[in-house]
Amino acid sequence: MRIPIIAGNWKMHKTVEETKNFWDTVKNWQKPSGVEAVICAPFTALPALADAARNSEIGVGAQNVHWEREGAFTGEISPVMLKQLGVGYCIIGHSERRAYFAETDEAVNKKAKALFDVDIVPIVCVGEQLEERENDETKKVVKRQVTQALDGLRSRDVKRLVVAYEPVWAIGTGKTATAEDANDVIAYIRKVIADLYDQQVANEVRIQYGGSVKPDNVERFMAQPDIDGALVGGASLDPASFRALVEGGR
Ligand code: PGA
Repeated sequence: MRIPIIAGNWKMHKTVEETKNFWDTVKNWQKPSGVEAVICAPFTALPALADAARNSEIGVGAQNVHWEREGAFTGEISPVMLKQLGVGYCIIGHSERRAYFAETDEAVNKKAKALFDVDIVPIVCVGEQLEERENDETKKVVKRQVTQALDGLRSRDVKRLVVAYEPVWAIGTGKTATAEDANDVIAYIRKVIADLYDQQVANEVRIQYGGSVKPDNVERFMAQPDIDGALVGGASLDPASFRALVEGGR
């Protein structure tokens, strides 16, 4: 009943021109049914991408947002600015933003609320560092991240949320969690959400795996009962690879 969602996270890649070239090679592709496809592009590429994708079956996402509607926040972009472009999703709490730009659980929570206020679906990233995994703290860490990200959110919003479980040591390293390990943590995240809300809400939340997902391993993750798609960095940059990921994401 949960429709899987494959989201490309382009990170700091692709100029406007490169974005248009990418689009030219995917625009005539027939996305398979039963899977959602989203591209999360840098701010500068979003107007062109959102315009091109407007009447397509591919969703458009941002990679960050500020929680205020407007104001003296030099360099920031607000939810309403994204909304007006036609953006439907926004990654928040990515481990790179947590590590390099001091994004906290509290900020993730404010961003989630602000995004729902304008009807943009947050993709909330959580995941443990290598040291935390080695200390057997994975579940403790993701529980804290999920609980704080969702603090005060209404159940009708949480049902629409996407969570991306991305073990930090698996991002961009070519190392993946095993599909069984990823499913185990994702099932645990679903249980945390069931305890915070109820089982019905938990059953509707989509939870992706992320970290070195490629066309040749995506099906292994998708075969797991609790994994509802993938958040993909490097392998989403090439159009043929992106299409293959979505096709494998059903
Ligand atoms: P990767 O990145 O697929 O390149 O490992 C995933 C992510 O950071 O979302």
